[in-house]
Amino acid sequence: MGGFFGTVAKASCVADLFYGTDYNSHLGTKRGGMATYDQEEATFKRSIHNLESTYFRTKFEDELDKFKGNSGIGIISDTDPQPLILNSHLGRFAIVTVAKIVNLEELEAELLEQNMHFAELSSGKTNQTELIALLLIQGKNFVDGIENVYKHIKGSCSMLLLTEDGIIAARDRWGRTPVVIGKKDGAYAATSESSSFPNLGYEVDRYLGPGEIVRLHADGVEQMRKPDEEMQICSFLWVYYGFPTSCYEGKNVEDVRFSSGLKMGQTDTSEVDCTCGIPDSGVGMALGYAEGKGVPYHRAISKYTPTWPRSFTPSRQEMRSLVAKMKLIPNRAMLEGKRLLFCDDSIVRGTQLRDNVKVLYEYGAKEVHIRIACPPLIYSCPFVGFTASKGDLELITRRVIKELEGDENKNLEKYATTGSPEYEKMVEVIRERFGLSSLKFNTLETLVEAIGLPKCKLCTHCFDGSSHF
Ligand code: SF4
Repeated sequence: MGGFFGTVAKASCVADLFYGTDYNSHLGTKRGGMATYDQEEATFKRSIHNLESTYFRTKFEDELDKFKGNSGIGIISDTDPQPLILNSHLGRFAIVTVAKIVNLEELEAELLEQNMHFAELSSGKTNQTELIALLLIQGKNFVDGIENVYKHIKGSCSMLLLTEDGIIAARDRWGRTPVVIGKKDGAYAATSESSSFPNLGYEVDRYLGPGEIVRLHADGVEQMRKPDEEMQICSFLWVYYGFPTSCYEGKNVEDVRFSSGLKMGQTDTSEVDCTCGIPDSGVGMALGYAEGKGVPYHRAISKYTPTWPRSFTPSRQEMRSLVAKMKLIPNRAMLEGKRLLFCDDSIVRGTQLRDNVKVLYEYGAKEVHIRIACPPLIYSCPFVGFTASKGDLELITRRVIKELEGDENKNLEKYATTGSPEYEKMVEVIRERFGLSSLKFNTLETLVEAIGLPKCKLCTHCFDGSSHF
């Protein structure tokens, strides 16, 4: 998905920009970048690094001296190299985006047809941030240009523009990804994750609405476009992406995870000795489940944090599985002879869960029950790029549906309906395949209730196929 941070201050912005961007590191793994604007010299400075083998801070701390100025933007990107700097009829500006463009090729062809060109070809493909910038500069002003982006792209796009006059922050047209505004004495900031704020002294000022555009200066925020009424914020932010201390639309990630576990624990009839969270995103749910069920919370599996401090995701699947396995260490003393219930955020391919369960039994677990924070992922995500880069069959649900129906696209609605015979059969096949004592997924109703927003404001496409383009 990716995450960004931008700040405009009366003093130098560099330290806040560096740490604020770093606090988005769990949202992306490919590229990191920062750009600053120095008003005195009227110059932009930019740097981009590959993050596939090391962390943002390691890459940028040695070159912080080269950045100067009171305003800057930074990005942790899961896709293309950013920020890009452009000179256009709108003036000079740098741009970062958190985006997924489904109709990239179609738009690329249209722009080439209009005699535009693409300069940044990352890994042989068009850089989607450049494509967004080209759509933007077709506007007669920044707002008109951003609306042109909203009008043309399918997928999602939130962005920050570092201009010669402050930072422009624009949230995705459907609000699928968040933009949070923070303030402190002499500075304003915009970020994807409000967890960037507390240690830098910012307080949440407001959450941008869907399609809303604002301009930040060191002493205030000016609204340039009002938010739209309809919203489809990604419900998976609370389940998986978000850092526990973050809030979106005022709803805290840890609180939502805890509530969804609590509700499940209160109604679940399984007999277990303790609950455990699969680190990190399963922990909040497991703590809630333990309280709801009235059983202790134990750490029977721990994450090795000294060298795996974040969700490092190599590009090859085999390497990803190996890394996932190496990060989690089972604890025989807490596993042996116990009936354990583990909470996890989701099941995508299932490879990681299968490996984890095997190890738990090898280390003496008597029973292994799994509870999942969300409903089964039946539809791949076309909006923020969460699932199925290689197609629907990456999802374990679709592979099971293909085995049961002979076609991975058949009766999807029935498989997405909790409690239907098709749903029960699919869950049973997955349970059996992993050798689990029991397997239950949260219902969509419980998840929506835990988030605390009306369902019509949430994107739940990957669970029930509902979609707004
Ligand atoms: S499809 Fe799922 S992961 Fe994608 S935006 Fe919607 S809720 Fe989020």
